Amino acid sequence: MPDANNDDASADPGSLRTPIVAVLGHVDHGKTSLLDKIRGSAVSEGEAGAITQHIGATAVPLDTVSSMAGELVMADDFDLPGLLFIDTPGHHSFSTLRARGGALADIAVLVVDVNDGFQPQTKEALDILQRTGTPFVVAANKIDTTPGWNPNPKAPVQETYEAQTDRARQRLDENLYEIIGQLSDSGFSADLYWRVQNFQNNIGVVPISAMTGEGVPDLLAVLMGLSQRYMKEEMEIDLTGPGKGTVLEVKDEKGFGATLDVVLYDGTVEEGDRIVVGGVEGPIVTEVRALLRPRALSEIRTEAEFERLDSVQAASGVKLAAPDLDDAMAGAPVRVVRGRHLEKVIDEVEAELSEIEVDTEDEGVVVKADTLGSLEAMANALREAEIPILRAEVGDVAPRDVAVASTANEDEHRVILGFNVDTLPDAERELDQQGVKLFGDDVIYQLVEDYESFIEEREREQQ
Ligand code: GDP
Repeated sequence: MPDANNDDASADPGSLRTPIVAVLGHVDHGKTSLLDKIRGSAVSEGEAGAITQHIGATAVPLDTVSSMAGELVMADDFDLPGLLFIDTPGHHSFSTLRARGGALADIAVLVVDVNDGFQPQTKEALDILQRTGTPFVVAANKIDTTPGWNPNPKAPVQETYEAQTDRARQRLDENLYEIIGQLSDSGFSADLYWRVQNFQNNIGVVPISAMTGEGVPDLLAVLMGLSQRYMKEEMEIDLTGPGKGTVLEVKDEKGFGATLDVVLYDGTVEEGDRIVVGGVEGPIVTEVRALLRPRALSEIRTEAEFERLDSVQAASGVKLAAPDLDDAMAGAPVRVVRGRHLEKVIDEVEAELSEIEVDTEDEGVVVKADTLGSLEAMANALREAEIPILRAEVGDVAPRDVAVASTANEDEHRVILGFNVDTLPDAERELDQQGVKLFGDDVIYQLVEDYESFIEEREREQQ
């Protein structure tokens, strides 16, 4: 792990911070399984202490990557400390990860089920990657399901691929080239990763199985290579300056009250630092009471669940305890004030929050979502489908939302679309009384589709 107290880090041009990696793809294509595999392998490689759990990010140190990927990685001389995987998979968490108007993640893995190919969320994810200019590789997952496939999790996946019977390889090839073709239709030149010379101009496709682990070391090696080049060319990070991060989740923890799971992408945060956090009602000014990192599972039985840290350096996942965090929002910025004017930092947080604000109209539906990022993604999807929005907010469906929705003139707008949120009991009752319809889902395109079918159904009934 990088030494958080090393004040010379910014003076050393070789000190690149850990690249932040997001995992995207269609539901059920294997994002969670891949992250579990990476986390599990890293733990079994004896690096348990360095692996963080359940704070939204998994740090995989270079040692672990090298011991998994072996000679695959060693071709170059790597000076990156490892990889930091955002372990809330899905493109909605990816769009939550924002920094300076772009995407926070430095690089990404697009997971595609080889049998299923491109699906709506694959396309959505690809659009986001294209829009944000995020370098990525494709993990063509579930190769173990290829009929006749003879697995060898111990060998580089290229070897395993070449050792298959002609029939098994042909079957896999059909699926792989379908994916390569679909990437090309979207304007990306792509090929199997061992045929790619330059991963920035060409998308490497890595055949993997998140189940057997085949290809996972190869994937890590490709990610290291890609970020090595990208970080050197693109990253200007001041590792010792006042920290900048993004809230992944707001969670109540016993003994600490409301806490924030934060991905720190720049600078450091120290215990006692004054911070500004984006909240439902605007910027919250508070002070860091504790910086917490979950202990490795094997240690939890004997010790407190969290380890306390004095300071944390980017890029890291960390749990941050501070007073007054109840109204903090997932997807909102966190900034350390240290040595800077408070007013200036508040202005910056306000500017970041307003950047994510959704344009609304006088007539339309009410939208609720769990994070700012998903609210923004919802708003984009609705705009594309030409569905007007009356109000868009982060949070569970509350009676006030029902009251707002019930003011709509058109029946088709007396509707609340809830993405990844719960409905408060009082609101449930109000829905019936006010004649407001609620649609809820955790897949954006599904939610939009459900609402569109509802409108079509109504139009049919009226004819
Ligand atoms: P997510 O929705 O993208 O996070 O997908 P999951 O990781 O939850 O995987 C969806 C389903 O596919 C689960 O039943 C997994 O066990 C299964 N799965 C994931 N990866 C593989 C794989 O490499 N091989 C096989 N055979 N099944 C897989």
